[in-house]
Amino acid sequence: MGSFFKAFFPYLVTAFCSPFFMPKAVLSVDFDSARNAMVEDQIKRRGIRDKVVLQALLRVPRHLFVEPGFLSRAYSDSALPIKENQTISQPYIVALMTQSAMLNADDRVLEIGTGSAYQAAVLARLCRRLYSIERHPALLKDAEDRFKKLGLVNITTQPGDGSLGWPEQAPFERIMVTAAAADVPETLLGQLGEGGIMIVPVGLDENDQRLLKVRKGETDIETEDLGATRFVPLIAGPPGP
Ligand code: SAH
Repeated sequence: MGSFFKAFFPYLVTAFCSPFFMPKAVLSVDFDSARNAMVEDQIKRRGIRDKVVLQALLRVPRHLFVEPGFLSRAYSDSALPIKENQTISQPYIVALMTQSAMLNADDRVLEIGTGSAYQAAVLARLCRRLYSIERHPALLKDAEDRFKKLGLVNITTQPGDGSLGWPEQAPFERIMVTAAAADVPETLLGQLGEGGIMIVPVGLDENDQRLLKVRKGETDIETEDLGATRFVPLIAGPPGP
């Protein structure tokens, strides 16, 4: 019996330390401190200063948006794989895009590419209503479950091709595209209100992709380059492989 116990001791320790057995409070404290560290080390240190953006990042539990196999890396400084060969964006990129969008609490915002819904949850905390479109219905189902769990009631989603926008709800004060387009999408620009801001990664070559901030003036379009990104491509048409 003694040797049996010895042989299995390491497995027992692993089992009892797994999230299944760990008291909830212990786990959430760990996630809370990991999230605080993420904001301090990855976000603030790289120059994100907008207090409401930092507050939103502190309040959205990123570990609820990653796949179970990546739980231990939920607050790491990287994008992670999700279902359908897609990715949840790197926390710093979410912070940069959110700060650059300069959201007002009263804004109606369109997001293209719901994905894990992490960016959506951050945006929804900072605007009046978020409209989010995703081409993979399976991702949207998980997203809806997360919104319900977190009590986020100001998000409306739709499956489909986001490059067509959401004409019935246009114009939007802000548009955030979280998949890379070949160029600034004209259709989406048409659905942006005057004075509105669109954040969009442009460039189909992953090694040569720029994050753009596009501001729609009364008569002109102003474009600012926010740096390099690596988003999955924006794919037109119905879901497929
Ligand atoms: N915002 C996401 C990151 C998404 S990755 C997050 O926080 O996790 C990009 C997403 O865009 C993928 O889920 C992909 O399926 C979706 N996508 C790509 N092309 C699309 C299109 N034309 N319409 C809607 N969604 C699209």
